[in-house]
Parts: sequence; structure tokens; C-alpha cells
Amino acid sequence: MELKERFLKYVGFDTQSNPESEKFPSTDKQLVLLKALAEEMKELGMTEVEMDGYGYVMGTIPASQGYEDKKVIGFISHVDTSPDMNGANVHPQVIEKYDGGDIRLNEELTMTVKEFPELSFFKGHTLITTDGTSLLGADDKAGVAEIMTMAEYLLTHPEIKHGKIRIGFTPDEEIGRGVDFFDVKRFGAAFAYTVDGGFEGELEYENFNAAGAKILIQGRNIHPGYAKDKMINALQVIADIHAQLPAWERPEHTEGYEGFYHLIGVSGGVERATAEYIIRDHSREKFEAKKRYLQEVVAFITKKYGEGVITLDLKDQYYNMREMVEPHPEVIDIAMRAMEEAGVTPLVRPIRGGTDGARLSYMGLPCPNLFTGGMNFHGKYEYCSLTTMKKAVRTLLNIVKIWAE
Ligand SMILES: [Zn+2]
Repeated sequence: MELKERFLKYVGFDTQSNPESEKFPSTDKQLVLLKALAEEMKELGMTEVEMDGYGYVMGTIPASQGYEDKKVIGFISHVDTSPDMNGANVHPQVIEKYDGGDIRLNEELTMTVKEFPELSFFKGHTLITTDGTSLLGADDKAGVAEIMTMAEYLLTHPEIKHGKIRIGFTPDEEIGRGVDFFDVKRFGAAFAYTVDGGFEGELEYENFNAAGAKILIQGRNIHPGYAKDKMINALQVIADIHAQLPAWERPEHTEGYEGFYHLIGVSGGVERATAEYIIRDHSREKFEAKKRYLQEVVAFITKKYGEGVITLDLKDQYYNMREMVEPHPEVIDIAMRAMEEAGVTPLVRPIRGGTDGARLSYMGLPCPNLFTGGMNFHGKYEYCSLTTMKKAVRTLLNIVKIWAE
């Protein structure tokens, strides 16, 4: 099957995940596509194709004869789409030889070059957009289609020699649970790549170190007319803590490798209140320093209000995969060479967030992220370049070839 046909088939499945659900996977409809993928993998001639009790689908492209002792490598992508936008009844629109101008999605909605200047990069490409009523689902069905197309190519071209390759498709990435039950041992690869990036050439192996802080304030509510020297207003305590955090270390003032404290929620009243922060930094050292500083601020403000007023609950969430990937520089070197040989300029950029690959890296499977050619994820302006997607397939094939050298 052609890459385009395959991609259009997959985006026809509604696979939206749901953060409110307590099931795994969060929605049954994801299993429909996962099952269809398992069937297709068997039809292509893959072996060890299995869907486990959680819905993870894994399969094998067996090693060429004489290449059985090569290190096993893996490719992973997720089937779910973001809960932020409708993912049902997707009507993709294909634009051949894109002219570089504004794109009319429907009668009312136009995607303009002014708002999305990166569109100009795609002049001459074949683009696939939405009709403005849903997301497209290139995140991450572009990755799924690219991996499957690579697999089909390898299975029909036995002259390309390679070691054993493992393929994995996962649910619930968009709600942060994508690898909760991923069986790294069963996957059995030495390294893997998630194929879940965006712009042509993106290669990501650095992400944030992340922690969450929950600050609980027990105030003392007194009638405001008689409050002198008695009242502790829990909301004021939060304001005092927040005022001590550096104003320039907020998301809206940071980029690249700059970390931040981000106040994500405040609730409560005078008697009791909570504030929640997330803390992010690429550097482990600066990350630890940011957490320490928050503890010092809490200790300082405690001096003002007394013991027992402030309770800080600080928890690490995930870490920068760089620490896990760097001991294996060949994983990055090969991906760079594979891109260059596919006519793609590698763009190594730090992720200002986390990925499934970051968590997998700490579960023992070093796992950088590769571009798919999809853009503007999670909304109605989502589109992808079929031209770039073809280069992604070539990149995957090159990784496999180089690995077997
Ligand atoms: Zn994704």
C-alpha cells in the first residue's frame, strides 16, 4: 500500500484518548485501530505479532540470514489523538504542488502564511490538511504510516540486509500514560526511536527534567473586622511564596534551554488554599537547584507565618533522556547520517516538554524522537507534508541499513 493511502486510511479511525477515563487504554476505540494494525502487520509477513492485555501491539521484522546477531532496534509510535480537538469524521484535503499561499480549509476558515510562516517551507510539497472541523491525526498516524510503509518495503525487498527489528504501537500517549504498561523486556530492543516529531529533520533526545509541587496552606480565618494579629490569609501566603519566585523564570519569558516555575492552579479561600506548580529544566543541576530554591522559599515564608501553615509536596515526574541516550552516541550519529542520506537536514532541538521516549529511556530503552512531517498538532490547523513523510520513511530505512553495516 502507498504511504498516502495508508495514512488516509488510519486517520479515518477515531482514536481520541480521554484523560477523564480510568481505564487503560482510556477509550475502546483506540483498540479498533490497534487490532487493524496487528492484522495488517501479519498480512505484511511480520512475525511475533501480538496485542497484549493493555492493547499494546508489537511485532517483528525478522533479521536477514546471517544478521541474527545484530543488535535489535525498535520503532514506536502512538495511535491515539489529542482530547483537545474533535478526532471523528476527519475529512483530509490533499493539496498537490502547494503554491506557498494561504490555504482555505472551508468557507469560513483559512490558514494564512502570516499566522503560520513555516508554511513557506512547504512550497512545492504535497500537503494534507483538515477541512477545519477536526484535527488531522498526523500526530501520530503519520508516524504509524511511516513505520508500516518501512516494514512493507523491507519485507518485500529481501536484498536489503538488516538485523531483527521490533515495531511497537501504543495507546494513550496524548494523556501522558502511553508507556505506563509498556513491557520493555518483551519489546526486547537495545535501542528504539519514537517516530512522533514534527518538522522535517527534527531529532530530539533532550527533554525537560520535570517535577510537580503541591503547596497546601492552612490559614486562620477570622472576621476581617477583628483580624489584627490573628488572621492568616491562606491566599496571601500563596501570593508571598509566588512573589519570591523569579519572574523571569516563567514559561512566558523562557525558551530553548531556559527552565521555569509555572503556577498551574490555585484554589481555596482564606482558611485553606492550595497552589500547584510545575518545575522544568533541561539541566539536572539547575533542576535540582530550582527545587531546592522552592524549598528555601517555603522555609523562609514559614518563618513569617509559623510552623504548620505551609506543607510542600514536591515530586519528580520525569527526567531528561539525554543522560540515558548520551552513553550510546551511535543512536544519534546513525539517525543523523540516515537523515543526511535521505536529503534531510538534521535539526537537533531540545524538547520543551516530555515524550514517551524519555520515559522509555529511563525504563532501559534509550529512545530518541524522529520527525514525521506533521505540523500544528492537536488542532484544526494540523497538516502534514506527504513529501516530508516520504523522506521520513527513507530515513527509517537508512537507519535500518546503517545499523546492519
Ligand atoms: Zn504525538
